[in-house]
Amino acid sequence: MQKYDVIVVGMGPSSVFLAYELVKLNKAKNILLIEEGKKVENRVCPIEKTGKCIKCKPFCNITSGFSGAGAFSDGKLSLYNPEDDDIYIGGELHEYIGVDETKKLIDYTDSIYLSFGADTNLKGVDYKEEVSKIYKKAKKENLNLISIPIRHLGTEKSHELYGKLENYLRDNNVNMMFETIVADLIIEDNKVKGVKVKSSKDIDNDVDLENIYSDNVVLAVGRKGANWLTNICDKHNIKTNPGVVDIGIRYELPDEIMKDINKYMYEGKFIGRPEPFRDKVRTFCQNPSGFVSTEVYDNDLTLVNGHSYKDKKSTNTNLAILVSHHFNYPFDKPIEYGRNVAKNLNELGNGNVVVQRLGDIYRGKRTWPEELENNKVEPTLKAAVAGDITFALGYRTMTDILQFIREMDKVVEGFADPSNLLYGPEIKFYSNKVDIDKNFETSVSGLYSIGDGGGLTRGLMMASCSGVHLARVLAETKIK
Ligand SMILES: Cc1cc2nc3c(=O)[nH]c(=O)nc-3n(C[C@H](O)[C@H](O)[C@H](O)COP(=O)(O)OP(=O)(O)OC[C@H]3O[C@@H](n4cnc5c(N)ncnc54)[C@H](O)[C@@H]3O)c2cc1C
Repeated sequence: MQKYDVIVVGMGPSSVFLAYELVKLNKAKNILLIEEGKKVENRVCPIEKTGKCIKCKPFCNITSGFSGAGAFSDGKLSLYNPEDDDIYIGGELHEYIGVDETKKLIDYTDSIYLSFGADTNLKGVDYKEEVSKIYKKAKKENLNLISIPIRHLGTEKSHELYGKLENYLRDNNVNMMFETIVADLIIEDNKVKGVKVKSSKDIDNDVDLENIYSDNVVLAVGRKGANWLTNICDKHNIKTNPGVVDIGIRYELPDEIMKDINKYMYEGKFIGRPEPFRDKVRTFCQNPSGFVSTEVYDNDLTLVNGHSYKDKKSTNTNLAILVSHHFNYPFDKPIEYGRNVAKNLNELGNGNVVVQRLGDIYRGKRTWPEELENNKVEPTLKAAVAGDITFALGYRTMTDILQFIREMDKVVEGFADPSNLLYGPEIKFYSNKVDIDKNFETSVSGLYSIGDGGGLTRGLMMASCSGVHLARVLAETKIK
């Protein structure tokens, strides 16, 4: 019976960088990565040809396959300001390994991205004075502005760069199993012993599962696997803490309105706590001259996202406005809540993303297709259906978003222009937070959790860093 040193579930950036680092440490001879999606070169989103999302089977090519959600991401690598004594972007990695160690990891991981062809140019490092003026303006509106250096890969370059990483792992004999679902874990006496797999073609079939063995299993399933992870934790009593779900919209407005933010920072991260609920509301994933896109989760939920290319440009900027919702008692299922919101909105859009003009929301009416055609802001997601997102988003979320937009308008003139577009649903699912120690080991011995799925990180850079860190831990303590 073959037994691996380490099995990694998923091949997103966290897993890819774990494998890369094990190769560098000469400890990757007997590891196995398992991914339900395809090799990066076979990942194609047909929406440009079909004009609408056809919900690829068995899995969405935007979220699954080698490099996970990274392959079609905008590829903004969030770095840090050396003078900051905290890490503000990308999740909670620094709470486990410390701020200084996290900064060192970011430098190292960034150097790997550079060696595989990332742009050497950094955004958001010049224009300190201009940024400081915007920061002060935002403060007056009780908005916090976070500006950190960003390395922008661009969607087409991300795909290319991860392709080179896939070749690198293959050339270094890393075992990679594609189009294979990890359906379950093998756990005995609270120790992990391996995984149970089946072909992705059998996603809906009740077939015999194949056992693959290892005493070290890493869960790197991303937001795509958040629902799966929640169920697995419930089934095997893996300790978790109540999680969060980020619900909101993708906002699209002319580059002209966003020109200062785009020029000085590329991406401005604004955080507010608008009255009356004081929920955390934030902008996220800003794409200057970008395109609004779709992604499909768990084969049935169509969500909105956004990205931008290095070369192909629109005249609009898009960004997410997200509200963080926590649930504890008696209801503690943030993923279920998010899924229900998405389901309702998908039904209203006949299975598609819904788009509405801000002015129509103020006027208390839906947007009609002919109004969209004549709108000042032309939607970049042609597959979106004109309609009414307020039917599904919920009073609390909607109030948070509208109030936040009003506050932002005082910082960026035109941010609340009635022609601006809201697309929904944009939802960031995280499983309930998996309880891990400083080595990212869960309450089950030998079982680890990294990346976005278990709630440790949020974003490409930190997910990648979490993989590098765990590789070093495993190399030192678990692999001969
Ligand atoms: C359109 C888009 C744009 C984005 N833009 C940016 C950006 O500009 N900057 C940024 O920092 N972040 C961005 N992100 C987010 C970023 O892609 C993620 O933070 C990052 O990919 C997380 O990495 P991960 O390794 O944790 O998981 P993922 O990349 O989600 O990978 C997880 C992988 O695990 C696989 N998997 C899950 N469950 C199983 C299972 N049971 N069996 C087998 N395989 C499984 C999935 O198929 C997937 O391939 C974007 C995401 C999208 C979708």
